Amino acid sequence: MTDVHHWHQRAQSLSLNTQAFINGQFVDAASGDRFDTYNPATGERLAQVASCDKADADNAVAAARAAFNDRRWAGQSPAQRKAVLLRFAELIAEHRDELALLESLDMGKPISDALGYDAPATARAISWHAEAIDKLYDEVAPVGDEALALITREPLGVVAAIVPWNFPLVMAAWKLGPALATGNSVILKPSEKSPLSALKLAELGRQAGLPDGVFNVLPGYGHTVGEALAMHMDIDCITFTGSTAVGKHLLECAGKSNMKRAFMECGGKSAHIVCADCDDLDKAAATAAAAICYNQGEVCTAGSRLLVDNAIKAEFLEKLVAQLPQWQPGDPLDPNTSMGAMVDQAQYDRVCQFIEQGQGEGSTLLAGGLPERAGPGLFIPPTIFSDLAPDHRLAREEIFGPVLSVIGFDGLDEAIAIANDSDYGLAAGLWTSSISNAIQGSRALRAGTVFVNNWDGGDMTMPFGGYKQSGNGRDKSLHAMEKYTELKSTWIQL
Ligand code: NAD
Repeated sequence: MTDVHHWHQRAQSLSLNTQAFINGQFVDAASGDRFDTYNPATGERLAQVASCDKADADNAVAAARAAFNDRRWAGQSPAQRKAVLLRFAELIAEHRDELALLESLDMGKPISDALGYDAPATARAISWHAEAIDKLYDEVAPVGDEALALITREPLGVVAAIVPWNFPLVMAAWKLGPALATGNSVILKPSEKSPLSALKLAELGRQAGLPDGVFNVLPGYGHTVGEALAMHMDIDCITFTGSTAVGKHLLECAGKSNMKRAFMECGGKSAHIVCADCDDLDKAAATAAAAICYNQGEVCTAGSRLLVDNAIKAEFLEKLVAQLPQWQPGDPLDPNTSMGAMVDQAQYDRVCQFIEQGQGEGSTLLAGGLPERAGPGLFIPPTIFSDLAPDHRLAREEIFGPVLSVIGFDGLDEAIAIANDSDYGLAAGLWTSSISNAIQGSRALRAGTVFVNNWDGGDMTMPFGGYKQSGNGRDKSLHAMEKYTELKSTWIQL
């Protein structure tokens, strides 16, 4: 009985963790303050959640530091840590439905996406890094007979992970997996717009056997508890996913405080290029639609700038618009829904402002436009603007909603030049049947990920992160584990 009624019924009987999780215990914020979290599809208040601030950050850091110093986690063998983390991943998989429901209710994503991607990808991120830790070796440097020179990796200590609301579980797991696997203590701060699934993770981590203090969760606002973590003198690393503006601020905080390691995964305005020699325009059009509509366009790698060769532009746009009936927003708890609600009123208003600004100025509105509000739900239909100048605000700024800007070009060189003319460099895509265009184009694109004849390929074995103002770190793959370790050189004179 997994129809829409099933999920509405389950939502009624869901029990929610609403306290902070510090040193293995669920506790109120020291101030006693709480904030509201809402279901953006209905406007209903879901819960009042502990609103942490500096005092809670201090408590969590003290617990995390004590756990690190007595080596209750870092001192376990990799095989032992692996066993605990694999159990954690199993529990996440066993609670798939509940986690998916929390995600859908709290931030508006379709339940089918949360079930099909978010919950399993969260378990996979934990298990993948767990599996890796007893297979990684340190190094011995080639220095000759007179010394033994060791190059070893050690955990950093206390890691604060600050994450956004668009993929609350997955963004957390991309950081928790490698940071915990390498022996650190972690403090997770979920977004104030989507705190509920992180608090469920805390419960499952405890059940799996993560020792007290090793994994803490502090719900609350960025300017209160987030800022306290960023400025803390006893945190060794801040690992962040979110907007470029906040990422830049956190780099300053690291510099102003204790020069903690600071890894930023930030925004994007990714160019999706369709060349005239693309031999499957239907597939490219279906993919281009999904690239801007999936997760309501609230995706850092959304293909939000569509660059189409002028030779095929009219034909391609017709095929693209024909895809949109499959992408109309609806009840996120209906398993047939492909697009849900925008996360909150502020994000809804922001996207609507962009849509207003796109109108006029020579642009053509091909689909969508300002939504007609029929109720409290924050729904925005896929909206496509064509004939925008490449320097138009809509074609340059991250909108983080289902709004696509289409730009024509003549030849791949021009497409690459337009694509690279951006402050961001998170992802780019290229549709072509020419092997030379594919390879030369992907080399020339200044982006952390390039998709050729697809959009959003990749798995845990591949790093994920940005060039330029899209960030300075990489999540996923063994490279992510490097971020959470110090490199120690030990020279033993013989
Ligand atoms: P955001 O920057 O507003 O918030 C992200 C997190 O930072 C939240 O937990 C927030 O509370 C916290 N925060 C805000 N101000 C803070 C401060 N002064 N000090 C400490 N913490 C603070 O971003 P968002 O709106 O939650 O998420 C959307 C953004 O995330 C988009 O720009 C998107 O591109 C980006 N994103 C990037 C990736 C990636 O891997 N590169 C993945 C997903 C999302």
